[in-house]
Amino acid sequence: PKVHRIIEDCRQEFNTRRPTVGNVGETYANTLNYTNHEVNSGLTRAVSQTPAEVIAELTVSGLRGRGGAGFPTGVKWKLAAAAKGETKYVICNADEGEPGTFKDRIILGKYADMVFEGMTVAAYAIGAREGVVYLRYEYTHLRPHLEAVLESRRKANLLGDNILGKEGFCFDIRIHMGAGAYVCGEETALIESLEGRRGEPRNRPPYPAERGFLGQPTVVNNVETLATLSCIMSRGAKWFASIGTERSKGFKLFSVSGDCSRPGVYELPWGITVDQLLETVDGKGAKAVQIGGYTGHLVPARQFDRRLAYEDLGIGGSIIVYGPDRDMLEVAENYLEFFVEESCGQCTTCRVGNQKLLEGIRLLQQGKCSNRYLNDLIALSETVKLASKCGLGQASPNVMIALNAHFKDEILARPVEGAL
Ligand code: SF4
Repeated sequence: PKVHRIIEDCRQEFNTRRPTVGNVGETYANTLNYTNHEVNSGLTRAVSQTPAEVIAELTVSGLRGRGGAGFPTGVKWKLAAAAKGETKYVICNADEGEPGTFKDRIILGKYADMVFEGMTVAAYAIGAREGVVYLRYEYTHLRPHLEAVLESRRKANLLGDNILGKEGFCFDIRIHMGAGAYVCGEETALIESLEGRRGEPRNRPPYPAERGFLGQPTVVNNVETLATLSCIMSRGAKWFASIGTERSKGFKLFSVSGDCSRPGVYELPWGITVDQLLETVDGKGAKAVQIGGYTGHLVPARQFDRRLAYEDLGIGGSIIVYGPDRDMLEVAENYLEFFVEESCGQCTTCRVGNQKLLEGIRLLQQGKCSNRYLNDLIALSETVKLASKCGLGQASPNVMIALNAHFKDEILARPVEGAL
């Protein structure tokens, strides 16, 4: 695909947080569908239809949530539209905290109008009057820009009362700052935080679409999902559904970082292989690629023919390339330090299990871990996955399991002294 350089330096935040997996190089972006979008044409078209028609069109498009879980957006909206409540809410999840992910930051900085347009379409479809952007604490610098865009939309009657002359369609958006917790990217933890409590995931059901913010039906959509649906409402569901694969419709933004010459944000159709992606970002010679952030899949070189699609590797959009000289135990130590720091502590398996896995990684680094102990770590990993409540604990041991499956020779290669 054609790429062009952008001004923002996507690498800064990532490298500050996880210094051992970042690299330095040019930053590129290819966001053609966003760049070419005629802002507000989607909203204008939406309000010319009934809310039910808007939801039906979104369902036909096949759009799935871009935050990582991939839940069909049309289904979520349909549930919220049908749910009974005194009022309804639309929340934009802008708590982009997955290491290696910076696409939402680019969208908010360059295409904020599209995000607000998407939120307004969502409000129209489900019957909400209030919207909230839950903005990652680390993106505080974006707030003045976002407030300015909101104000210009109010002046243009794209927010407020009787939007675009549609009698009774009233909706406005406010910004709420997060406090720096990764787990608040999980939608129920986000809602807890928004209600003024500790950001801890809730038991589900009930799902937010039925009982969310302040107990009312709430749609929580990711920044990219909202921006993308404004394109869909503008150009139509059939256009979007004609791109991608059978179960993964449309295009997707990928944040690519790590050991490649052209890290950046790339808009690519679902279905491309890891090999094709590496060619685009010039990551030749990589020995592994982390697909979907730290909670995703660690894919070794021999599997680079796998596809980025829900049929194979369905992901949220963070891709980290590991070059041939990368120490995979150091990589895993990074991951587990992150999860230990970010666990909210509700589940013993996640709170204690990840500590134990980190200790295990350090023993492996010192050459003090036998094959038997490694097997125990894998058994512990399975327990943490099974018995943890939210996506953090359910995915945090993936790296341990992947190391054992794909890099066992490398991680047991250290001389063993007094092994456990
Ligand atoms: Fe909290 Fe971890 Fe349990 Fe999620 S899995 S609720 S982060 S302790």
